[in-house]
This record gives sequence, C-alpha cells and structure tokens, in this order.
Amino acid sequence: MSYSNPSTASFSRQTKAIINLANIKSNYEKINEFAPNSITIAVIKANAYGHGAFEVAKALDGIAPMLSVAFIDEAVKLRQSGITLPILILEGAMREEDIATSIENDFLLMFHHHEQIAWLSAYQTIHGGVLQQFWLGLDTGMHRLGFLPESIDQIIATLNKSTNISEVVLCSHFSSADERENAKTTNQIEKIQDIASKHGCLMSIANSAGILTWPESHMHYNRLGLALYGASPVEQAFLPFDLDPVMSLQSSVIALREVNIGESVGYGETWVAERTSLIATVAIGYADGYPRNAPMDTPTFINGSIAPLAGRVSMDMITIDVTDLAKVEIGDTVELWGSNLSIETIAKHVNAINYELITRVSDRVPRVYSN
Ligand SMILES: *Cc1c(COP(=O)(O)O)cnc(C)c1O
Repeated sequence: MSYSNPSTASFSRQTKAIINLANIKSNYEKINEFAPNSITIAVIKANAYGHGAFEVAKALDGIAPMLSVAFIDEAVKLRQSGITLPILILEGAMREEDIATSIENDFLLMFHHHEQIAWLSAYQTIHGGVLQQFWLGLDTGMHRLGFLPESIDQIIATLNKSTNISEVVLCSHFSSADERENAKTTNQIEKIQDIASKHGCLMSIANSAGILTWPESHMHYNRLGLALYGASPVEQAFLPFDLDPVMSLQSSVIALREVNIGESVGYGETWVAERTSLIATVAIGYADGYPRNAPMDTPTFINGSIAPLAGRVSMDMITIDVTDLAKVEIGDTVELWGSNLSIETIAKHVNAINYELITRVSDRVPRVYSN
C-alpha cells in the first residue's frame, strides 16, 4: 500500500473564495497615501484574515515595507515559503528559543512582559550583537498586553543595563477606535505620546480604524489589518474613501425543488412555505465557515437579485428561497458575500463582525486568486 498527496488541481464543487489581489494592492496604496508620514505595516496574521498569508505577502512585495503576524509560527511559515520582508510578531516570544529564531529570520519581536526581556538579555550575553529595533508593548488602556505607563522608566533602565538595542518603538493598541465619540482613543494617544517624547522613542498605535478615522493617531508605524482586505472597521459613512472588497465567497446551486404550502425546509422544520415556493440548495454550509446562526432573512446574491435563506444552515448546504427570481438553474453562481453583497451587511444579519466572518472561512474552501 502506498500513499500520495491528494491533488488539488481540479474542484468538483464550485464553492470558492475568490481573492482579488489587485484590490489588496489598491487598498494598501490608498491607505498608505492617506497616512503619508507613517510607515504602513501590512498585518497578515490568521492567514491574512483568511485570504492566504503567502499570496497576500507576495502581492505586497515591493509595495509594503513590513509585514506583521500574531505569533512566530505564522512568520516561520512565511520565511519557509520565501517571503523576505521584515515581520513584526505582535505577541512576541512565547519561549526562550523564539529570540534566536527571530534574530536569525529578521523578525521584530514585541516585548510585553519581563521574562521576554530576560530571554533577550541572556541571548545577547552569549551571542552578543545589537538588536536593531525593540518593540516595547505599552498598555494604554486595552489591558490585554503590554507594560503599564508607570513602569516604562524602569523598563528602559533595564534595557539600557542588560541589553544592546539601537532603537525602541513604543507600541500600543486601541480598544475603541471604531467609536467616533469615544474619548478613550484621544486618551490613549496622549498616553503614548507623553512617554515616547520623554524617552525619545518611535511610536505605533493606529490599527485600521485609527488610520482611517483618527488622523492624529498616525505615528512612525501604523498597523493595517482589516481595511487592507476591503472590509470596513467603522460605519461605512465615516470612511474617508471607499475600500475595494477583496474576498468574494461563492458557491453554486446543486438542486432545485418546488415546495408546497405547509411543507417545511431543512433541519427542525423552522421554515414553512406560505406559498408554493421554489427552493435552491446551494453547496456551502457551516463547515465552510458560513455562519450557522444566519437567520432566515439573510440575503444571498444570485443572477443579479437578492434571495433570502429559507431554513437552517446545514454543515455542507444552505437552502434559499428563489421563488421571486425570473430564472434559476442548477449550476448558477451564488455570492454569499463580496462585491455585490457587502460583508458588513451579512455581519449585521448574523450578529457577527466582518473580522470574524472573513477569518473563519475554512480550509475546505479553495482560495482562487485573481490579479
Ligand atoms: C490585529 C492587530 C492589528 C490590526 O488591526 P485591524 O483592526 O485589523 O487593522 C493591529 N495591531 C495589533 C496589536 C493587532 O493585534
């Protein structure tokens, strides 16, 4: 008995996520121009928010000067596939050997607790060398990672004494930058500015919502995640310009049937025909990342029209009510979200955020790239 890798060359099922790499580039360029005095880091953690980290990194080569991921394993994979840009590791070293891995691979580590600094110091005691850039996590109010403002004097003193570093980037993260009226954001900006000016550090605080709606948060480095993928971190009316949607999640009709008045569709008989209805069964379900909690009125886009879900989302299928459509046939393409049906619309219907929907498209869905 011998085994070989399964082929992925052809797909029997039409379900796919089409990723428009040209729109990734145009989003990056528009957003980067909007923050002309900052270096815009492309955040490609979580497989580039579900879009494919390697392909997105490759598309941004020569456009973005720096990438960022959450943890070191994500960065190692990118290096192994030939990506050479510097990569910032947002959660920093999780164990002592991550320091050596980072220095060997040109990863920039966030430092947010004392043990990580002790690991760096121990590494430099043995191997010497100067760390070009030290990202110092500052907790300005998110209370998730980072050192508190009042401990920074002492941290900097420790760094000067026990490590060899040429540059410190003070880095913090917004808790509420998507809320226009929330004074917390201004307060966080003031905190980081105070400390950075005292110690002469570079600074970074803006995420997508900060970059797009709080220009005063633009600093030496901005960290661009969600908006790179054409999804909006704020109410779309507050965006300074339109973003180009990148992912189109598509499937196709695999069955059509007429359902009589009083008959139900799907698990639990939650949808019952109130008229003679035409139901299309579509080959995508919660195992693909389509949310199982999507209620009956959740829209799908088919043949230029909107058609609502009918009945519960199954593991591999959904059923939609296409009674009002002029024409539907087996094999017709259905868009679940994309350029015809915004991810924000779907997120509202299913009580999720756009971040969650794009990152949860499962491995079973092939990503197909267009330029
Ligand atoms: C994910 C992340 C970002 C990017 O945030 P978006 O809202 O997606 O732009 C920036 N900074 C940190 C620390 C993050 O974890």
